[in-house]
Amino acid sequence: MTARLQIDLSAIQDNWRLLDGQHPGETAGVVKADAYGLGMAQVAPALAAAGCRTFFVAHLAEAAALRALLPGVRIATLNSLEPGEAADFAAHEVVPVLGALHEVALWREHARRLGRVLPCFLQLDTGMHRLGLSAGELARMHQDPSLLEGLRVDVVMTHLIASDVPDDPNNARQARLFVEKRKQFPGVKTSFANSSGMFLGEVFYSDLARPGVALYGGNPTPGQPNPMRDVVRLTAPILQIHALEPGDTVGYCGTWRAARPSRIATVGVGYADGFHRRLSNMGAAYFDDTPVPLVGRVSMDLSTFDVTDVPAEIGGMLTLLGPAHGVDALAAEAGTIGYEILTSLGRRFARRYVGA
Ligand SMILES: *Cc1c(COP(=O)(O)O)cnc(C)c1O
Repeated sequence: MTARLQIDLSAIQDNWRLLDGQHPGETAGVVKADAYGLGMAQVAPALAAAGCRTFFVAHLAEAAALRALLPGVRIATLNSLEPGEAADFAAHEVVPVLGALHEVALWREHARRLGRVLPCFLQLDTGMHRLGLSAGELARMHQDPSLLEGLRVDVVMTHLIASDVPDDPNNARQARLFVEKRKQFPGVKTSFANSSGMFLGEVFYSDLARPGVALYGGNPTPGQPNPMRDVVRLTAPILQIHALEPGDTVGYCGTWRAARPSRIATVGVGYADGFHRRLSNMGAAYFDDTPVPLVGRVSMDLSTFDVTDVPAEIGGMLTLLGPAHGVDALAAEAGTIGYEILTSLGRRFARRYVGA
């Protein structure tokens, strides 16, 4: 009996609409990493049906797969383009987010080869120091406009380094730098906020917001109530129940020891399914509305829960992710972030899409 992962596409659509209503500009959908693990093939068409017209992925291969699904939308790749990729970018009508002069050169050369103007986005570095044109590169571009010959810059963008920490001074600093740097591209549209950035105030609004995690139910306002709808629910049937005497232990190396007569339920979800081993002796699942502690080590394919205090039976369901215990709660227990919980959700679950 496999665990079931339910993904609510209408909740994703509602989340997109809520974000779109949050600011005056256009709202893109970030569907990189297979829509944060939830399935781009199902998620992207649902977003398009809700009104989303611009999509961001990370890689060319993701963009090509998305293009086959959605012929009419704008697709941009956050990881830019690499040598040898330009022809495929153009063939699939994918817009590269160029973040270095050598990338600009690759795209410019291809435009020359094709004899037509090619669209691009430019990423400006305002503090991440990961992708994006540096101050020096922008200065060279300013001195030599031919560096952009044959290219049409549709959007200039930058990425916040601490948008989930509202009072981090980097936010205001990056906003100031972005206003300054984008002046070099008068009339070009801007793209600034990710999910959390959309909740930081008007300074962070732009022509094209780029939410990802909030679409999938992650809380863009950590520490405050989550304005987004829940999207994923992971339930697993109880495979066996073991009756333990005081002193008996559970799992590898016996890291949990019963202090009283206990009932231990085993479910078929382990670290190979994205149920992090860090959760060993820390996490919890839910039986109806009651939390049942995870006891012993999470192993590759199995986890064990103390169901002594609930009327759980073999074949009954435990909820590992759900409204009472969402992506961010599980992430906190595992010492990570909701993004990593989502993107590591296993491929072995029976996936069920509802809504839309
Ligand atoms: C992943 C990503 C996003 C989406 O971020 P969320 O925090 O998931 O909303 C936006 N912009 C860039 C550049 C990204 O890499």
